[in-house]
Amino acid sequence: MITVEEHRAAVLAAVSRLPARRVPLAEALGCVLAEDVVAVLSVPPFDNSAMDGYAVRSEDVAAATEAEPVRLRVIADLPAGSGERPEVLPGTAVRIMTGAPMPPGADAVVPVERTDQPAGPGAGSALPDVVAIQAPAAPGAHVRRAGDDVTPGTVVVPAGIELRPRDLSTAASTGHGSLPVHPRARLGVLSTGSELVDPGAPLAHGQIPDSNTTMVAALAETLGVTPVPLGAVDDDPDALRRRLQDSLARVDAIVTTGGVSAGAYDVVKEVLAPLGEVAFTTVAMQPGKPQGFGVLHEDGRGVPIFCLPGNPVSVFVSFVVFVEPALRVMAGRGTAEAPQTLQPVLVDALVGEGWRCPPGRRQYMPVVLDDRPEDDGGPYLLARPASRGGSGSHLVASLAEADALAIVDAEVQAVTEGDVVTVMMVP
Ligand code: AMP
Ligand code: MG
Repeated sequence: MITVEEHRAAVLAAVSRLPARRVPLAEALGCVLAEDVVAVLSVPPFDNSAMDGYAVRSEDVAAATEAEPVRLRVIADLPAGSGERPEVLPGTAVRIMTGAPMPPGADAVVPVERTDQPAGPGAGSALPDVVAIQAPAAPGAHVRRAGDDVTPGTVVVPAGIELRPRDLSTAASTGHGSLPVHPRARLGVLSTGSELVDPGAPLAHGQIPDSNTTMVAALAETLGVTPVPLGAVDDDPDALRRRLQDSLARVDAIVTTGGVSAGAYDVVKEVLAPLGEVAFTTVAMQPGKPQGFGVLHEDGRGVPIFCLPGNPVSVFVSFVVFVEPALRVMAGRGTAEAPQTLQPVLVDALVGEGWRCPPGRRQYMPVVLDDRPEDDGGPYLLARPASRGGSGSHLVASLAEADALAIVDAEVQAVTEGDVVTVMMVP
């Protein structure tokens, strides 16, 4: 048996960041940016109005008051998006909407509320011949200058960040329709077992729903990884071999579940072990002891393959402990040198109700967490085993009930009330 750390190190040594590629903005959310985003456009790209109102020459309206308004001839209408450039000569004005380009000659905008004209949608559809300006406007009033926000050449989003919605909108405003990113990995999800049928389908005697495909695909989605469901295959070596061959070209990594222990129908091991590229080991952990990992080769590309055991709790724990860190590396979000970037958050919890632990194996125990008052300086959280009973790797309901996995070292034989344990906050 090898330790969890040894197996994880072997996995991480074999995976690397996916090569950067340009993707449309709509596909870039959550991806790690591969190069700085440098503004191509100014923001705003031209001088424009900050208000709905009238573009004027400020000197024309310097003396305007409500009692003695200045009347200007309205020579044109400029909605946002207009390409017109009507010239504002002394004694004239142009009706202008927010975001429309300032017309030549005008140097200020008087908001419609400071005129005799009605404000609001529809109210101003007929362009008046004359507008009465009821207040002065200083030069530049209500004008947004070209480049006020950003000038071309400015780095607006630095390389290395995980792109958020506002980063994408900044890229769009500054002239980009696509960005170079480490793309979302595509994770092939393949379940094995002749007993499996699609969730929700009727069951014959001996059959069970395939819950692992759903779980692994959903876990992938929580990480911004695109799941590629490859279906469930029977415990038939040829069928499995064919399914893998047909799938390799469309995925960046594969997770299989089931078929890796010592049974007579453990087909994953039977098919992959002879290839020599996938190693099957036992890891000193509970659940998740049998593990396979390797790299398949397809068209000059390495496709990491994780062969997890079949029990759903084992799949969950194996995914969080081994697959998730590898997917984070592939996305460019973390590296083996900074392991804290590769796993969910760890916190301390006080044990409210103890449990037994397997000898010689690191235990990942599904636990329920409750808040506790911290007036004694202890942890904020109280942990107890998920109530539907222990850490049996087939107990899916206790997994759903759990808030976290308590991590218990191999040499600990029992966790008792009052102990402090480290728990991993899991999706
Ligand atoms: P195996 O490792 O293939 O012997 O599977 C171990 C246990 O997990 C067996 O009870 C299987 O029926 C169950 N199992 C395997 N694959 C799945 C799956 N995709 N969904 C639900 N249970 C499964
Ligand atoms: Mg099986």
